[in-house]
Amino acid sequence: QKVLIVGGGGRENALAWAIAKHKKVEAVYVAPGNGGTKKQSSCHQLAIEESNDEELLKTCISLKIDLVVIGGEKPLASGLADKFRDAGLVVFGPGKNGAQLEASKKWAKDLMAEAGIPTARYWAANNKPEALDVLAKINQPLVVKADGLASGKGVRVCQSIQETREAIEEAFAGKFGEAGTTLVLEECLEGPEVSVFAISDGENLTILPTAQDHKRLLEGDKGPNTGGMGAYAPAKVLNSEGMDHIKETILKPTLEALNKRNINYRGVIYAGLMLTNDGPKVIEYNCRFGDPECQALMPLLGPELAQLLQAAALGSLKKAPFLKISPLMSACVVATTSGYPHNPKKGDLVSIQLDEKKDFPIQLFHSGTKLSKEGNLITSGGRVLSIVAQGANYNDAFNLVYEAIKEVNFDGINYRKDIGHQIRNIDSI
Ligand code: ATP
Repeated sequence: QKVLIVGGGGRENALAWAIAKHKKVEAVYVAPGNGGTKKQSSCHQLAIEESNDEELLKTCISLKIDLVVIGGEKPLASGLADKFRDAGLVVFGPGKNGAQLEASKKWAKDLMAEAGIPTARYWAANNKPEALDVLAKINQPLVVKADGLASGKGVRVCQSIQETREAIEEAFAGKFGEAGTTLVLEECLEGPEVSVFAISDGENLTILPTAQDHKRLLEGDKGPNTGGMGAYAPAKVLNSEGMDHIKETILKPTLEALNKRNINYRGVIYAGLMLTNDGPKVIEYNCRFGDPECQALMPLLGPELAQLLQAAALGSLKKAPFLKISPLMSACVVATTSGYPHNPKKGDLVSIQLDEKKDFPIQLFHSGTKLSKEGNLITSGGRVLSIVAQGANYNDAFNLVYEAIKEVNFDGINYRKDIGHQIRNIDSI
């Protein structure tokens, strides 16, 4: 079997690593990949950008690729999966229609409202007077969200009516470009957050372990939002009963609602939930694995994952083998360059002393790295490396990660020392 993964981040690096574990997978190609791709066993890097649909398609056909896995939301939202499927390829990832779950918050909210899926009350607005009218009527601080994709920066949780007004004005002044021409205003919910992941073949779902990520740049969950500074899986806030409840009240109804819209959704349904006093509610959907949640999650999954993704892509999840899930706890910390997220410094030499084989169970997934003309590993993006480890409890797993992180270095390296602070000490007895 030959697999192509589209994307160049830590998520795709982790997917390639996990998929290559299956005996029947003879080669994994990653396009465009990053500085770590070639170092992974049986992984080949293709210098094709994820936006270059035509070149990707030609390459899939000439390499006789058996399965394409599309990592990120941008190519999914622009319909790359549809193009591949039209050409007869087997693809894991929803088409443009299904990707609206993530690409339009209004679309997703309307779907939830129709299907009775628990979520925050919301109001959509296409212009400033409409949005300010909603605010005057509701007369309480709201969460202001750009409708479209904004790389995790399109949401402001406002603390006051004045701040809500400012956020509305800012959005309609063009802060989010096209993504912000429609706004979704939401009531503010409270409670711990958890990410749940289901693999869908259009009709059936396989549920994966939950995860929690840390979006804020600074310790104590302070500072600006980032793509993610660390994660852990599974999240301890849900037991199996809670998970069953979420499957019945959120995940299955989501798939049914997609089917009602004639959408055959083959990919990841990622539901970001808030566990409120009134029960779990959907904060957002994503149409792909999270980054860095994926890096924490992949080491917990058995090698059957490759078959599972293929079965989902073929619409035959029921025939897929049972996916073994490790009972261990997995911890992930992201090392970034100085200046991230606003102005990341690039081009510095990266030194890695870590020997993953020797240092098992530690994994190192690359994101913003590339090989220079001279063949040296250098930084090429804000989030540079994800360091991941597993342990019998979270203390063990995070201790391994924080020891291992000392073995990597580059100028201005930065990482949060408190990832997993919620769970690090409660389960070590
Ligand atoms: P990302 O792309 O980073 O996953 P996003 O831009 O799609 O995020 P959301 O996940 O909808 O945006 O919101 C980002 C964060 O804002 C959430 O993780 C949550 O902490 C907070 N948030 C969003 N909606 C609400 C709400 N209704 N009540 C309280 N907090 C909220």
